Amino acid sequence: MTNDVDVLVVGGGVGGMAAALAFARDPRITVRVVERRAGPGNINRGDSLLPAVTRHLVRWGALERVMAAGANPIDRMQVFHAEEGKLFEAPLTDPDGSPYVVLPHPDIERVLADAARATGRAHVSFRTSLRRLVEDGGRVRGAVVVDDAGRETEVRARLVVGADGSTSKVRDLLGVPFFSEPYDTGYYIVDLQRPEAYRDAMRLDLHADGGVMTMPQRDGVVGVAVLVLPRQLQLFQAGTMEQRLRAIWQRSPLLAGMPHVGKNAHLYRLHRGHAARYLSRGAALMGDAVHLTNPTAGQGMTMAIEDAAALARHVSPALHGSEPRLDAALAAYEAERRPANLELVRWSHWMGRFFAMSGPVADTVKRRVFAFGRTAVGQWVQREIWGHVATRKAA
Ligand SMILES: Cc1cc2nc3c(=O)[nH]c(=O)nc-3n(C[C@H](O)[C@H](O)[C@H](O)COP(=O)(O)OP(=O)(O)OC[C@H]3O[C@@H](n4cnc5c(N)ncnc54)[C@H](O)[C@@H]3O)c2cc1C
Repeated sequence: MTNDVDVLVVGGGVGGMAAALAFARDPRITVRVVERRAGPGNINRGDSLLPAVTRHLVRWGALERVMAAGANPIDRMQVFHAEEGKLFEAPLTDPDGSPYVVLPHPDIERVLADAARATGRAHVSFRTSLRRLVEDGGRVRGAVVVDDAGRETEVRARLVVGADGSTSKVRDLLGVPFFSEPYDTGYYIVDLQRPEAYRDAMRLDLHADGGVMTMPQRDGVVGVAVLVLPRQLQLFQAGTMEQRLRAIWQRSPLLAGMPHVGKNAHLYRLHRGHAARYLSRGAALMGDAVHLTNPTAGQGMTMAIEDAAALARHVSPALHGSEPRLDAALAAYEAERRPANLELVRWSHWMGRFFAMSGPVADTVKRRVFAFGRTAVGQWVQREIWGHVATRKAA
């Protein structure tokens, strides 16, 4: 392991690991990732790999690893209502045939890390945190990192990438402003025993108390995301597991009686936000460090991986060139990703607001919207939305 690399990535979540892989595929580029955790995470932080992302995984030679790790393909969306039964069903396909697969978030992080390391040009240091940036001549040229034994190391790099999540220290040290707003709703994420009647699908159960999304997880288990309205926060934060399960069973007849599995249930509090810039003093920011989005449309992880792909595509050819050339490549990354992400944060916001509308009137509106989805025009609208949020191609 050398402390003089081409790219230093701070943060080994999905975004940082994807960036490491995307850069290290170039045989001229060496990468170091520093991640403060001991290894890939242990909670579900989104597990949908949409076609917009699997397209990149194919190019990076990582989709086979994803499938070997037990990913489940999803080929349809279904919407049910507790009283009316099935309201809507539509195929979820991609024009190029890129699959939509789900895999638990920690496994996604692990697969990306393994694929990056398998290039022989990426090294991941777990239990290692950023302490400070190293600057010279008004430009970031590396960082001082510290391991959990307190040992400090200076890592020099041509490019430092801040992929260190919503509370990004790199962003703060660079002085990049970040504006974020909390939502008053949340999602309760829990794994339940798989019901026999469930067939693999992105399944939505609408209910006046809030919708429930069910996706396949590992064998015999489904991953469930329960919309939590402000008046239910107390129950999902401080109630017993029995009380929470009863509320879920009431909303989704499919899940009625299914016990809780594993230890990873958590209440995910939501925010939306966007950074004023993605670049400063020759360093780059990506993923949750620059955008936070309502997860209803499943965009957080997707956007982080798309950032990684765009950053490596623009910057790799310029990394060993002059500083003006590198700066032009970084500017091209920001010019591609910032407007695209801004639009996705807005889209996700409105989709989240629609999904979180509560009460009998909202319930009727949602039923009608999804009933309209069964018509030919409705199917066309559904395909347009799917094309926007899931199968879009990189610029
Ligand atoms: C609790 C939680 C639950 C979530 N649940 C969902 C969900 O259900 N659905 C959904 O779509 N999205 C969810 N998300 C959002 C989704 O996880 C992110 O949008 C996506 O993972 C972004 O990836 P990232 O790599 O940019 O950031 P992150 O996944 O946050 O990764 C950042 C990494 O940087 C590391 N790090 C931070 N500071 C330092 C430092 N100083 N030194 C070294 N390492 C550092 C962190 O340990 C972390 O591993 C959730 C996020 C959180 C926080």
